[in-house]
Amino acid sequence: MGKQVALVTGANKGIGRGVAEQLAALGMTVLVGARDPRRGEEAAAALRALGGDVHAVTLDVTDQAAAREVARHVGERFGYLDVLVNNAGITGSGQVSPADAHDQVPSAVDLDVVRRVFETNVFGVIAVTNAVLPLLRRSPAGRIVNVSSHAGSLTLIGDPDGPFAGLLPSAAYSPAKTALNALTVQYANELRPDGILVNAVAPGYVDTDSNNHTGFLTVAQGAAVVVRVATFGADGPTGGFFAAEGPLPW
Ligand code: NDP
Repeated sequence: MGKQVALVTGANKGIGRGVAEQLAALGMTVLVGARDPRRGEEAAAALRALGGDVHAVTLDVTDQAAAREVARHVGERFGYLDVLVNNAGITGSGQVSPADAHDQVPSAVDLDVVRRVFETNVFGVIAVTNAVLPLLRRSPAGRIVNVSSHAGSLTLIGDPDGPFAGLLPSAAYSPAKTALNALTVQYANELRPDGILVNAVAPGYVDTDSNNHTGFLTVAQGAAVVVRVATFGADGPTGGFFAAEGPLPW
């Protein structure tokens, strides 16, 4: 088997792009998933200029046919996939209609916002994972990392005295990350016998477009924890939830 091959969804910018850069620096062939082919190609070219073996693939995670097409392409070109990072995500705030900004109060949330966020952050993960699973099964050390959030931890956000109690109301984003965590456990249980490790990661509050650059961590810092989990050894954990500070409670 040749070089390790990784697919990162939503990798044309933000944390995903940082993850792609770091995986490439480790010597992997990295496929930059992007729903916009031009921006995907630009990101891949910029990462190649840094010395990485990086290629763009067009992938809107809400499009099952596109996910299958990417799997077909990867199968034809490489025959296997070692690492899948399900990073693509939206907050839903200001991303569906201008009126939805800051409006994820449960009693007032627009159901279309909830649907859109789940479509991308949860159903998209199932679509992409299932499309490439036959390729991950051909890897001697398959790894799936689901990019979640502290906001997905029921334990953390449910503690009225904890540091996360004061988060903005989040009737779409936070429950979608909780559902992603639940899926992580389901996939981990199913794929344990195959030696495929499946974990969720909270990157921390990272300076990206998704929070209008209010995050206090750099993209490189947020990406580092994702990469650490994506490169766990064969005896590494599966079905866990990790952040830079260590394991997180569900
Ligand atoms: P960005 O908005 O910077 O990047 C999000 C990426 O996801 C973009 O490449 C975007 O593509 C892509 N994307 C969105 N929808 C789709 C789709 N349907 N198909 C394919 N790609 C899509 O956000 P971040 O880098 O901050 O977020 C990355 C992940 O990290 C998300 O899952 C987010 O929830 C999570 N996260 C981020 C935190 C932070 O503080 N930044 C904190 C906790 C979790 P496009 O450019 O086309 O929009």
